[in-house]
This record gives sequence, structure tokens and C-alpha cells, in this order.
Amino acid sequence: MNSSVSKGDNVKERIEELRDQIRYHEYRYYVLDDPVISDSEFDELMQELVKLEEENPDLITPDSPTQRVGGEPIDSFKKVEHRIPMLSLGNAFNAGELRDFANRIYRLAGTGEIEFVVEHKIDGLSAILTYQQGRFVQGATRGNGIVGEDVTENIKTIRSVPLKLKEAVDIEVRGEVYISKENFTRINQSRLEKGEEPFANPRNAAAGSVRQLDPRVAAQRSLSLLAYSLVSYGGEEIKTHLEALELLKELGFKVNWHQKCSSIEEVIDLCEEWTGKREELPFEIDGLVIKVNDLALRDKLGSTAKSPRWAIAYKFPAQQKTTVVKDIIISVGRTGALTPTAILEPVQIAGSTVSRATLHNEDEIRRKDVRIGDHVLVQKAGEVIPEVVKVIKDKRTGAEKEFIMPGKCPVCGSEVAREEGEAVTRCTNVTSCPAQRREGILHFVSRNAMNIEGVGPALIDQLLAKELIHDYADLYFLTLEDLLPLERMAEKSAGNVIEAIKASKERPLHRVIFALGIRHVGAGVARVLTGVYHSVDELARASAEELEAINEIGPTIAESIVNFFREPHNQEVISKLKKAGVELSAAEDDQKETNQALIDKRFVFTGGLKNYTRSEAKERVLAAGGKVTSSVSKNTDYVVVGENPGSKLEKARELGITILSESEFTELLSGE
Ligand code: AMP
Ligand code: ZN
Repeated sequence: MNSSVSKGDNVKERIEELRDQIRYHEYRYYVLDDPVISDSEFDELMQELVKLEEENPDLITPDSPTQRVGGEPIDSFKKVEHRIPMLSLGNAFNAGELRDFANRIYRLAGTGEIEFVVEHKIDGLSAILTYQQGRFVQGATRGNGIVGEDVTENIKTIRSVPLKLKEAVDIEVRGEVYISKENFTRINQSRLEKGEEPFANPRNAAAGSVRQLDPRVAAQRSLSLLAYSLVSYGGEEIKTHLEALELLKELGFKVNWHQKCSSIEEVIDLCEEWTGKREELPFEIDGLVIKVNDLALRDKLGSTAKSPRWAIAYKFPAQQKTTVVKDIIISVGRTGALTPTAILEPVQIAGSTVSRATLHNEDEIRRKDVRIGDHVLVQKAGEVIPEVVKVIKDKRTGAEKEFIMPGKCPVCGSEVAREEGEAVTRCTNVTSCPAQRREGILHFVSRNAMNIEGVGPALIDQLLAKELIHDYADLYFLTLEDLLPLERMAEKSAGNVIEAIKASKERPLHRVIFALGIRHVGAGVARVLTGVYHSVDELARASAEELEAINEIGPTIAESIVNFFREPHNQEVISKLKKAGVELSAAEDDQKETNQALIDKRFVFTGGLKNYTRSEAKERVLAAGGKVTSSVSKNTDYVVVGENPGSKLEKARELGITILSESEFTELLSGE
């Protein structure tokens, strides 16, 4: 055997080994919630696999853990006819209806001795997963129960869905795709920040994500799946639902919570118990599903046209109530965002008292037309903050008052600003507004800003609580005597902190400008600014027009800079920095720190990058002293090519300009 063949075999073996390890760790993390290695160790395994597969594309298989987010956006979904129709479930709203359900079964079965299995009814979107020989081959939605849609690429992005089972079997599994409450809040937060309409509830968010035409978007939604039934299995005969769930677990699925009950009274007790406990779960359930355990009996019971006779959904009491908006108040978040909140006449919703509801932002208030004094329908969805669903306009008397967004921050009294195209109104006093200064200080001391070692969140919290500092400039006036009485602060470490703070007075101007915490002024923009302005004072005097004349600076950044320096509190903090002796002008050797290779180099991007958004990529180039232009000319130094590049690539080839792949671009940035 020649050497190249044996080398190939080694690579192949290593790839298989890595895949098995990664699958195992995904299983530990996403299915068992019990990881046995750190995230960074996991990333290392993944990176090694990605690299080996990039070098050996012929060895890539669809069940490789690298293939979870693979596909390109599509125009529409293919239709899938279900082999076994997926019926809906009958509903029960109280104990009486549950007893009716059981009695019907006792009669048909000819016995009162029936085992039930009770499960969470997860509020998401059902999915049908098909495996052949243990490999995931298709994911489909329920659709109308007969025909659904092929959403294979989106289902693949769900990390708790095994792409390869522990046994090479043919199976069809049903489960619920859902979004955890935590991810739901995160997704809506970012939608609101982008001025997009938030999802009404986690179910809509899950459904919208599963039906995403771009699997990369679906991947960002962090979907989860819990399996709840095995509809067909090529292996040996299974007699009960519990056995089926056990098998699913063994094959590597994350299986829905379930409990066996020997009587309908036991089932009823469980329904009551979960009505009170449902909020403790990290995801939403809208009820419980009660199923007959014995599969042969299920066949005997059969189905009506709409739903099986052997299962029923117990639905929790309504999660919506009407009440009155007594007032609308504003709270200020840690990034300075002003969030309107409705103060409600307290109502009981699903077992808890609701006395406030979020109104998200000004646009949402206008869209729903919520006024003080209005009767409103309020919805409580699990731990998600209660929200106003709609106004009951019939109940208006004319005495309702329209809400007006305040022009000043209710916490510190400073001016507020709402940027063009943004839904959020923010307090402009980023340096000393009590609501947001903590974030500002954390940013100020961070590595890419002033890089003050030893000053982390724990210390900053103590300093703020003891009122030793009110803003980041106060750091420079701290003394050993201030620090020594603090928790976990020995003489030596206190001395080190003071030294580190002192050392940061000499940071280059672009770092200082970045550290100030001006919205939209990242490290790259800060560097661009220092190319034009040689001190903080010069920058502070710049007008919006002047700033916009700079190539990389658009109206949003310009406005944000002007607002920052106009705010009197921010001006005060800057004069304190000056008084403390912090260098606020450019020194001769300021450019030293940068990767010289990129200074003034002109970049053009075409196509989609995997690891950066366009603006991140641009920011990185600017931060390294380079420039970004939108079209290719003979002055262009590099054209960075992502997926689906446009005509710029052709142009670059014609002009003989250096073309970089994404990984070459990353290497160049890291200075290799
Ligand atoms: P419904 O939409 O009210 O008719 O309820 C049927 C739906 O409940 C199914 O299509 C599933 O999406 C969902 N579901 C959630 N959890 C379960 C479960 N444990 N067993 C069966 N269906 C469930
Ligand atoms: Zn404020």
C-alpha cells in the first residue's frame, strides 16, 4: 500500500473519531443537560473537524455534526405526504371532561383497569422526523395532518435532534419543536432593537423559525425538540407507549416528561398539580396530554375523523384576562433604553397576580393604541413578562389619556434621544446615569478599551454600592485607603489595582475614544476618528455635518457622537478624566499597536461571510487601520469573497486584485 492511501485512512479515521466525540458531547449537553467538557474544548473538537473536512471535502457526510447549518436559503418548501396521518387532539378543560374521556374508554375496552401516560403539552410546533438506517433523512411539519412541509434543513439545526442514532434502525418519530422562554425573550429583545415587530409568544416564534426559508436564520433561533411519540419502528415489537419512550431515550432523543397513572383520578391530580407548577418550566406548556399506554388497546379504540379516542389534551385555564391601565411608567434599562410599562388594576391570571405589563416601546404603544385608563386584554405567558394584547375600544369613555414619551430620562433627568430608524428611546447620559453607568464602567475597563486589569464586575459593584465611584472617571481618584476595606482586597491586590488604573492613563487616543462608550462608536470607528481628530476635545467640537463628511461615518454615528458630547454629565466626566491626567490627545506612537500590514489597505467585500456580519467585518478592518469601499477599482488591495459573490469578484479577477477567502481574511486580521 502506498503512503498516501494510508495517510488518507488516518484522516478518515480521525474524522470519524471526532464526529463520534462531538455527537457524544452534543448529546451530553443538549439532551442530558449534563456536559462533561467545557465549551472551549468542544469548540476545539469542532474546529479540528471543520478543518479536516474543508481539506477533504469528499469525506463530508450529511450526518456529520458540521452539517447542521448547511443549506442555502430556498424559495419555498416541498410538500410531504405523511405516511401516517397526524390527527389533532380532543380537549378537556376540567375534571368532568377528563372523567368522560376515561369512561368512554372503559366502555369500549370492557374494563376500568387502564394505564394512562401523562405528558407535558408543549406549546410549540409538531415535527415528524424520519430516520433510515439510523440516519436522519427528513423533518416535516404537520401541515393539515395529511400533507406537511419538508423542513429538513431547519430541523437539522436543532442540536438535541440526533443526526445519527445509536442503532441503525428505520423509525419515524414525532416531537414538538419549541423555543425556551429565555431564548424567546432574547429573540424579541433583538427584534425590538432592530425595530422589528416582536413575536407574540414562544409558539409563534418557534413556528416562524421552523418555517424559515433560510436555515441560517433558523439556526440562530436556538430551537429545541422534545420527542413524544414513536410512530413506526423497524425493530422488534413494542407493546406500550412507555416502552416506546424508553427506546427513544436509548436511541439518543431528548424525550418529553411523562408519568404513568393507574386511574383517571390520579391523572386529574396531576393536572391540578401542573396548573400551579407550569411556570417553573424553562419552556411553555399549555396543558397536559393524556394517552393510553397499551398500544394494542389504542388500535382497538381507534380514532374519530379528527382525533384519536385514546388520547386527550387537558388545557390549562386561560392565560388572558381583561383589566384597566392605571398608569404608564418608564423604566430605564442598563443600556439606557426607556421601556414603558403599564401599571394595571391587579388581576389573577393562571394562578398569579399580574399588576404590570410591558409595552415594549413607543411604537408598540402607538400600534396597539394603549392609553391610560383603557380596558385592555392582558396575557401572561409563563415567565415571560405579561403583555398587553389589545385594547378593548368599546369600553372607552373619552377620558382616556394618550401617553407621551418623556423628553428627559426619569432616572437622571438628562436628555433622551431616539435614533433614526430605531424603535428605542435612550438616555444620552451614558457616563453617569445611575441606570446605565455600571455597563459603561465595565466597557471602559475592558480589554479593548482602557484594559484595566483587576477591575472587574465584582469590584465595580462594590465601588458603586459604597459610592466610592459614580462614573468611570472616578476610578482615577481611588486611593489605597478606599480599596483596603473592600471584600477580598489584600494590600497587594489593592496596590495592583491602583497601579493598573494609573497605567491606563497613557492609552492611545483611539482606545480612549472607544472607552468613552459612545453608542455606535466601536473600536474601528474610534480608530477612523483618530485619523481626523487628534484629541477628545477636537472630536467634541465636531458638528454632525463635519463628521458625516468622513467616509466611514454615517448619520447615525454622527448624531450619536454629537448627542454624547452635548450631554452635560458626559462633559463633566470628560473634564474629570482630564483633571486625573488621562491622556486625551494623540501621541506620536499611537499607531504602534496595530498590525502594520493593514494600515490604509483598501478592502471590498462580496458575498455572505459565515463568521461575520458585513458590519462586523468592516469594523475589524477599520480597527486594524484599513479602509472599506463598496466597489472594486485598481486602488483596491483586497477583495474578500464569501458565499454567492456578486460581479465584484469578476471585476477583481479582471483587475488582478488579491482575492481572499473568509479564512484567509481571518488569518490576515490576526496578523499571520
Ligand atoms: P391541538 O393543536 O390543540 O390539537 O393539539 C395537538 C398538538 O399538540 C399536536 O399537534 C402537537 O403539536 C402538540 N403536542 C405538544 N405536546 C404533545 C404531546 N406530549 N403529545 C402529543 N402532542 C403534543
Ligand atoms: Zn438617565
